[in-house]
Amino acid sequence: MKNVEQMEHLEKQLESYRKQRDLDSIFSCAQELLKLAEASDNSYYQTISNYHIANTLYQRGKYLEALDYAANGIRHGEVAVYPFYLVQLHNLIGVLYGTLGDDINSVQYTLQAYYIAKKHGVNKYLHILINNLGVLFFDLGFYDIAYDYFCQSFQLRNIHSYDDLQISDGFNIGNLIGCCIHLKKTEDYVKWNRYYTQYCKRFTENTVKNDYLLYQIYQNYYQQDFGTMIEKINTFLSCCDRDKDNLHTFKDLLQIFKLSIEVQAEDMSIKVFDRLTSIIKQYPEYERNSELAKLQVKYYLTFKNPDMLNQSLLAYYQAKEKEAEISKVNLKQSLLTRIDLEKVTYEQEIILKKNDELRKNIEIEEFTKVLNKSSFRRYVEDELQNMHHDQYLGFFIVDIDKFKRLNDTKGHLYGDKILLELVDILKQNIRETDYIGRIGGDEFCILIKNVLSLDYLHESAVHLLNSIRKIQNGVDDISASIGISVTDSGVSYEKLFKAADDAMYEVKKRGGNDYSLQLLHHQSK
Ligand code: GH3
Ligand code: MG
Repeated sequence: MKNVEQMEHLEKQLESYRKQRDLDSIFSCAQELLKLAEASDNSYYQTISNYHIANTLYQRGKYLEALDYAANGIRHGEVAVYPFYLVQLHNLIGVLYGTLGDDINSVQYTLQAYYIAKKHGVNKYLHILINNLGVLFFDLGFYDIAYDYFCQSFQLRNIHSYDDLQISDGFNIGNLIGCCIHLKKTEDYVKWNRYYTQYCKRFTENTVKNDYLLYQIYQNYYQQDFGTMIEKINTFLSCCDRDKDNLHTFKDLLQIFKLSIEVQAEDMSIKVFDRLTSIIKQYPEYERNSELAKLQVKYYLTFKNPDMLNQSLLAYYQAKEKEAEISKVNLKQSLLTRIDLEKVTYEQEIILKKNDELRKNIEIEEFTKVLNKSSFRRYVEDELQNMHHDQYLGFFIVDIDKFKRLNDTKGHLYGDKILLELVDILKQNIRETDYIGRIGGDEFCILIKNVLSLDYLHESAVHLLNSIRKIQNGVDDISASIGISVTDSGVSYEKLFKAADDAMYEVKKRGGNDYSLQLLHHQSK
């Protein structure tokens, strides 16, 4: 099977494994696809395989490795713009950063996913992206923004009555109710509460009940009805274990702990704290966050326990250190991703440079390695257009005298040697910014720019003639005829060339080994 057919086959297989949620097969299939895609430098399949590998690694809890693959996927996806996968990859990185506790990067990538989806009309999961954004902003405490996103997501799905709700909407309604309570939107609260009651009649989801209770606690807190608030907390404590999502419960309990301390309910604070510590014992990895340690300090401050306060301050300090360590790792990861992207840009620059070199090669005359006739003309025309009118531009034509005879007597190869020696002399007599071109067999042109006085051109011509006579230590008595035209305004190339050519022939007529300079005046433009 050819590479392309094999990759198409693997893509189909991936799709069927995805439907079966068979992680192991997805993983090995995607790895095989990645190998083939890399070998044939196929950006589409590199994008897909990197995405599936990253997604599987995410599901297996290997977040940093997943980030690596996802970043690679984005790199390849951007080469040819595969919007669907770019959306998926950005969203995945958003989720990964969220899991790693980097909220800012998380929002940034999820927003990017949303913008790409909107720009390219990838509508399939748009409502999920919008919902994710709502959750992210909700967690960051931007309830007004979160509320807008949650409502938008409902609108996009055409949810206008309770009958349109699905089982997964419990969360969404809970979040909307939470927003209303935090934002004190009474009317909207009533509306979403009605949705909630209807939802509960049709579906049961423990997580949703916990969330609902949490928001009731908040509502009573805002209304300063602390008695009811404590009652609701008791209810929460008695039923929160039903939820299998322990991390979710842990986060809810942290908020409840904070509220209990704030209203100075010491007994309740102890109760909630006990519950938190028992979860931590079971799931030590939840302590990644320093929030609990911080609340402990607050707790000992509020309920005045100096001995424990010291201990809790130390614990908070240590938790903060640990957190800083983790965010350093995250930062390092995102830096590595960025460095990776920099590398690609750098490689692109090298390619551009190579192209530039290739272009230059086309402009060069093969034997003498100076500019060929047409490119020399192009450069001169550019200079004529951009020249300063307070300066001169000198155009030289240098033609060896009786070169044919030399070829005939000493051979063509010897003639070649002389030509190369002449080019060396010409090079020594010009500056970096000037140009040399070969316009005929033994005929070369030089453009000397930015000349302030004509004396400089006279001196150059004399110096050139002297050097040419010294070719091969003077044994061949080689000389040249030099015609020079000079201008201080943008005349045409033809005019400049003709004037120099005429001057050169005038020298030839005189027997060569000399130069002639013709000044082109403004009026002769
Ligand atoms: P004049 O003084 O009138 O310039 O006489 P000339 O013999 O130099 O002029 P002409 O243009 O008649 O001859 C130029 C000669 O240059 C013709 C050719 O044999 C020689 N020639 C052209 N290209 C090359 C080359 O690449 N190598 C060598 N060795 N000779 C070349
Ligand atoms: Mg000649």
